[in-house]
Amino acid sequence: MELYELTVHELNEKLEKKEITSIDIIENYLKRIEEKEKDVQAFVTIGEKLIEKAKQNPKAIPIGIKDNICTKEMKTTCSSKMLENFVSPYNATVIEKIENSLILGKLNMDEFAMGASTEYSAFHKTYNPWNINKVPGGSSGGSAAAVAANMVPWALGSDTGGSIRQPASFCGVVGLKPTYGLVSRYGLVAFASSLDQIGPITKDVTDCALLLNYIAGYDPKDSTSVKTDKKDYTKALSNNIKGLKIGLPKEYYGEGINPEVKEAILRVAKQYEQMGAIIEECSISANNNALATYYIIACAEASSNLGRFDGIRYGYQAKKYNSIKELYRKTKKEGFGPEAKRRIILGTYVLSSGYYDAYYKKAQKVRTLVKQEFKKLFTKYDVLLTPTSPTVAFDIGTRSKNPLEMYLADICTVSVNIAGLPAISIPCNLDKTGMPIGFQLIGNHFTEELLLKTAYAYEQEEKFREKHKPEFKK
Ligand code: GLN
Repeated sequence: MELYELTVHELNEKLEKKEITSIDIIENYLKRIEEKEKDVQAFVTIGEKLIEKAKQNPKAIPIGIKDNICTKEMKTTCSSKMLENFVSPYNATVIEKIENSLILGKLNMDEFAMGASTEYSAFHKTYNPWNINKVPGGSSGGSAAAVAANMVPWALGSDTGGSIRQPASFCGVVGLKPTYGLVSRYGLVAFASSLDQIGPITKDVTDCALLLNYIAGYDPKDSTSVKTDKKDYTKALSNNIKGLKIGLPKEYYGEGINPEVKEAILRVAKQYEQMGAIIEECSISANNNALATYYIIACAEASSNLGRFDGIRYGYQAKKYNSIKELYRKTKKEGFGPEAKRRIILGTYVLSSGYYDAYYKKAQKVRTLVKQEFKKLFTKYDVLLTPTSPTVAFDIGTRSKNPLEMYLADICTVSVNIAGLPAISIPCNLDKTGMPIGFQLIGNHFTEELLLKTAYAYEQEEKFREKHKPEFKK
């Protein structure tokens, strides 16, 4: 067995027993990248002098980082022409927290994390390791594909409306979007600040808990970070879910959900029942308006956040201009891709004085309704079980020309961000064509331990990773 096939907790064991050093791990991963990166194209930047770095830190574990998380030692491009050569003067807090890590590289994404397929990267697309004619999902498609292809042992992504969970589901790996405020956003290039959250993408649930141990915790540099007690999330992992109350919100099983996906998720529910959980159908009607609400709030915040890319303070600057206004206009026209522009225009529109009440204010009211409905559900249920995405990974090129179709890929994930809740995606099966299906567990605020435990219990039963491996089908 190659080292790149092992999970991080398995690598840690070998490091502890001194059977291997981190130089062995790095060499093995570099070999794997050499073999597979040409097919998958998950990286924007591959790290340099990694073996020398491993020599200095013989217990270090390699990691891949989504390219919107600031790193001093490598460029942070957000897969945008706007930041093509940008090197951050500081590290994001999460980078400081994973101090025992070696950054293998920065991973591809949809430009500024806007998208659901990683086709909107300004540099190149990323391909799904299970079938390279398919998208890996997005926007953290590079992170999910790199983990699935064993080109990194684990990775960090960011999730504003589903960008950790949906690609994790498309690539057959585990992805956790933590509670809003659990993980510092300092040094994460902002897309929609009230929704963004950094989280782990890993090979299994134990690794997910381990990586959360590193990155969770209060940070005075992020004013939305919450003071919580330090936890060891791996301690929560157990098979015992007897008496756990699981709700199945019927809105997630209706129109638009692929029948094969639905069937697979209902089988997961059956399995939980056999393990001693209590399953019940429930309803969250505000969910029907969640996607519209999400796109109003996300675009409004994006239009404000992306204002800083003015050709003066950061990144790209237009070459020829006669006035300051022309400098702004040309820089944005040349630096941003079509999806970023679409969101800035939409966001500026919903915030404009004539339309603010009709769109933005209304969306904020629906946001409150979504929160209230979830709150009520969590008085009755411990966790909610839903599909992560209505379909499996789709073919490259089939949605990238139709933004509304692309937006539908996140119909099952956006409400979680609107309500600031934690949610995890776990692979459960393959469809007839051999593409992974993922299910989502949603928990109440700061119940990551319960979510991880529930996910772990299923993983122990189903053993997806042992049964299925990506085949790089062409
Ligand atoms: N696909 C969603 C969007 O395009 C979610 C993106 C994300 O979570 N970063 O906005």
